[in-house]
Amino acid sequence: PADDNLLDVSGIEVVYNDVILVLRGLSLSVPKGKIVALLGPNGAGKSTTLKSISGLLKSEDGRITRGSVVFGGHRINDLQPDNIVRRGIFQVMEGRRIIADMTVLENLKLGAFTRTDRGQIAADIDKVYEYFPRLRERTGLAGYLSGGEQQMLAISRGLMAKPSLMLLDEPSMGLSPLLVGEVFRIIRRLNAELGLTVLLVEQNAQMALRTAHYGYIMEQGKIVLDGPAEELTSNEDVREFYLGQG
Ligand code: ATP
Repeated sequence: PADDNLLDVSGIEVVYNDVILVLRGLSLSVPKGKIVALLGPNGAGKSTTLKSISGLLKSEDGRITRGSVVFGGHRINDLQPDNIVRRGIFQVMEGRRIIADMTVLENLKLGAFTRTDRGQIAADIDKVYEYFPRLRERTGLAGYLSGGEQQMLAISRGLMAKPSLMLLDEPSMGLSPLLVGEVFRIIRRLNAELGLTVLLVEQNAQMALRTAHYGYIMEQGKIVLDGPAEELTSNEDVREFYLGQG
């Protein structure tokens, strides 16, 4: 693996409930400072790949039975999810799992749960509001936010953990085209201005490849194609099967 890779996933096999084999020798790398998109049809194993990296697999009776996940030069396969957050990986789950009966501010503070620099948290909340100004105005319960605002809050809460690698599961899900554009623009800014490294899973291949530097396409638990985003965008198969332009 190259030295400038923040993350190297090598040949992982993942099994749920000790029987269902979902990932079959999957490998991918995320270079430091880049945005990488992971695309593929429903059920290919994209969410499972993210959960294998963040450790959240363990709470769903999933297990990595082969291969390795190496982050910043350390093997993290066997670490608990909170430990993985402390090391700098945060997964924003699909479906915007914010806490509906807490306020926006309380949700943001929750994102900082692993941090020891408590004095810095208020300033960081302010910084997060610069990226998501409309959250500053929402003083009520998070459950009353629109779908787009909830997605923004979910990403903001992730930022409060100060990750070096953010895993985003379907950030465009359920959003209007206008909001999808806004969310992806913010992802680009976070990458460009804060140096945040991003691995994102998307159904919206068009938007994902326009945002990412590099892309992987997976089918049935394995990577079948990868390359720089602009190369994938002009690949005939990708155009036909993922961009609907065949
Ligand atoms: P989608 O876009 O539909 O979410 P995906 O590519 O993210 O698809 P996964 O959610 O990773 O795919 O699911 C891959 C396979 O693993 C599917 O066949 C799914 O039924 C199975 N699977 C996912 N989670 C579990 C679980 N907790 N227990 C058992 N099987 C699971």
